[in-house]
Amino acid sequence: MTTSIPGEPWSTGVARDGAGALVVGGVPVARLAAEVGTPAYVLDEADLRARAAGYRRAFAAAFAEVGAGVDVYYAGKAFLSVAVARWVHEEGLRVDTASGGELAVALRAGVPGADIGLHGNNKSDDELALALDHGVGRIIVDSLVEVERLAALVRSRGGDPAPVMVRVTTGVHAGGHEYISTAHEDQKFGLSVAARDGQDSPAMQALLAVVERPELRLLGIHSHIGSQILDPSGFEVAARVVLELRAQLAARTGVLVEEVDLGGGYGIAYLPGEVALDPDRIAKDVASSVAAAAAELGTPLPRFSIEPGRAVVGPAGLTLYTVGTVKPVRVDDETERLYVSVDGGMSDNIRPALYGARYHAEVVGRLSTAPHVLARVVGKHCESGDIVVHEVQLPADVRAGDLLAVAATGAYGRSMASNYNMLTRPPVVAVRDGEVRTLLRRETVDDLLAIDQG
Ligand SMILES: *Cc1c(COP(=O)(O)O)cnc(C)c1O
Repeated sequence: MTTSIPGEPWSTGVARDGAGALVVGGVPVARLAAEVGTPAYVLDEADLRARAAGYRRAFAAAFAEVGAGVDVYYAGKAFLSVAVARWVHEEGLRVDTASGGELAVALRAGVPGADIGLHGNNKSDDELALALDHGVGRIIVDSLVEVERLAALVRSRGGDPAPVMVRVTTGVHAGGHEYISTAHEDQKFGLSVAARDGQDSPAMQALLAVVERPELRLLGIHSHIGSQILDPSGFEVAARVVLELRAQLAARTGVLVEEVDLGGGYGIAYLPGEVALDPDRIAKDVASSVAAAAAELGTPLPRFSIEPGRAVVGPAGLTLYTVGTVKPVRVDDETERLYVSVDGGMSDNIRPALYGARYHAEVVGRLSTAPHVLARVVGKHCESGDIVVHEVQLPADVRAGDLLAVAATGAYGRSMASNYNMLTRPPVVAVRDGEVRTLLRRETVDDLLAIDQG
């Protein structure tokens, strides 16, 4: 295989032109490199919008089949800018935020507070106050302490009760291809549904506390089980646990909460041959399983929500680099690996170093007929773990000046970027119908120096 283009893991707007050079959203990469430089994050606007709309349509249709409503929240932490918040909102999504900064971007985009959620295991008073100021539609509380803090804040300010969801942990953890279900919880998020020592579970305690506080309005229960999930059964098991908890709360207090949020985590393709979770299929599976669970429990279905982040923005993005140093390295008697250094690295994509995440790369400025060899794409940082693509076949004649693209970097690339080694963070540019638009400009050394107080 000399090229995987077009097809997954590339965005739908990626093709090769007659000379073999990559074109994205109607824009040749050579033109992109000339206009905005490298490295650069490139977002295929039409692809991103189609994925957002696809999730909304798939879930709306499947849940309508079983008589339930559903809202789709875009998880802004995957990547958020004013334009992207606007696009997903135009496609009928709401926006999930996890800090005052993300909330500020969504508000700047004109997303109404009512269409925004605020998450976080350690929200500051300022962040909670910002949410209340703007009538954020749901504050997802993550601890008993936060229940008390939020109630106190509302009491001191006056005004309407704050709409609250309680984040629970169901013992279901998913990511990669499988889910595991554990009775215990040893992580910072949420409140466990597991009861201990004859006491109510932490989740039940928090729900009861919210019900008791006149300053809070209990909207529902929230569960998020993991990320990059390719096996849908974890969602179904977690949804059932949440519906059971909802029924138990109703039996105790007479309060049947209106909403259940099933979180995000829908997996995408990162490598050629990988298959993303199909939104139509997962929506049908989850809808039929929650309908069955609610029928068994004898409770009417709540309104549901989901929070895809990666699945909306990940496949829509690619990172464009310029190749610099190319160095063959003898690994053992049989193996030689070509180390291909690019002009970015772990500062623009920390995921390979952080999680061992795998990516696919191709030389995209030209179509090489040279045989392909084992290569590793590395960055320019002072760290041997500064790897962009662990293992990929690249043409043996890859050389300095070549443009190289890494697929499916739209999620958790720019949003986790750093200034390590005082590199300036790359721009995010959108392409659509042959046009290039800068969403976030490239940082400059002046930006770095501007915050240094000497
Ligand atoms: C991270 C996160 C998401 C989005 O996860 P993806 O894997 O990007 O879909 C959604 N909800 C919550 C609460 C999260 O923490």
